[in-house]
Amino acid sequence: MHELSIAMGIVNIADAACKKANKSSVSKICLEIGRLSGVEIDALNFVWPAAVERSVLSNAEKEIEIIEGEALCLECSDTFQITNHYDACPSCGSYFKDIQKGGELKVKYIEAIN
Ligand SMILES: [Zn+2]
Repeated sequence: MHELSIAMGIVNIADAACKKANKSSVSKICLEIGRLSGVEIDALNFVWPAAVERSVLSNAEKEIEIIEGEALCLECSDTFQITNHYDACPSCGSYFKDIQKGGELKVKYIEAIN
């Protein structure tokens, strides 16, 4: 499953961060996930317990911040909200756009305990 590999990737990031900071366990992890990232939050939550088992994240509280999609129209320079990659500009109908926000999939911060 796509989300399982994402969760395992997050575990690896947290593990590397802990090693670097000389910590053994994470108390809280905050993730930023964009609406256009293709990540299903429900699926990620579903695989999470299995993915973090016996890792530095096994007791970590998980917080997810959803980033709404935003695009810049390349024809009329309007900035607009989008929910899908194929949405057209509401002002001029153009499909030529730059995604400004919403593609995020990243660890925002990690709080560690010893
Ligand atoms: Zn436009």
